[in-house]
Amino acid sequence: MSLCLICTHPSDAPRTACARCGDRLRGWLAEIPRQLVLLAASLELGARPAQGYGGAGRAHSPLPVRGDVLTLLGPAAPGPVRDSARDQTGPAPVHAILYAWADQLAEDLGHDLPPMTPRAPYADYLARHLDHIVRSAWVALLHAELADVVRRIRAITSTEPRRRALDAPCPSCAAFGLGHTDWQAYVDCETCGLLLTPTEYDEHRAAVMPALVRIGILMTARELTQEAS
Ligand SMILES: [Zn+2]
Ligand SMILES: [Zn+2]
Repeated sequence: MSLCLICTHPSDAPRTACARCGDRLRGWLAEIPRQLVLLAASLELGARPAQGYGGAGRAHSPLPVRGDVLTLLGPAAPGPVRDSARDQTGPAPVHAILYAWADQLAEDLGHDLPPMTPRAPYADYLARHLDHIVRSAWVALLHAELADVVRRIRAITSTEPRRRALDAPCPSCAAFGLGHTDWQAYVDCETCGLLLTPTEYDEHRAAVMPALVRIGILMTARELTQEAS
């Protein structure tokens, strides 16, 4: 047993990040490519009103793009940026962050960095090797940088994953804390941190819910009887 470098909860060695923190990383890596599409749309918004409200003409050239969005969408540095990142002032672009960590990952795995895919630069590569990442010494640094970049992106796109509460109680702690958040692979318990695959949840639900529903009906019937008497 060791401690998760991110949340300090116990984690099964040789993991350096617990299952829950690993799942959060996987969720962000799935979210970022989707958010980049929204971010690109936000970039162009500044140019639209001039067309939409048409015809008045412009006294000044408007800033064609939003600076904060442009910063996030900036291109990946052409070479490794891990060392130079500390010299940078201001926040790093999403692509540069993903590139730097993909570069670190490829070095760990002892192979060449695969070519960048146009839509989701290296988010999928990192997600594919999450099993290695949650055993690496640098998982907490990656987690901190992704948390920051996801927070910055969501602030601009006003879009964040929704959490849907699920009705069966947690099989581990019995609290009603199970739920599923968009883009996460697992159903998780907010109370104890348990993770279940959707299939495991469905099986658990099928096993416990009929009895719970029966108890609920009996309790309601009893209350109604008491009220009537
Ligand atoms: Zn953790
Ligand atoms: Zn629980």
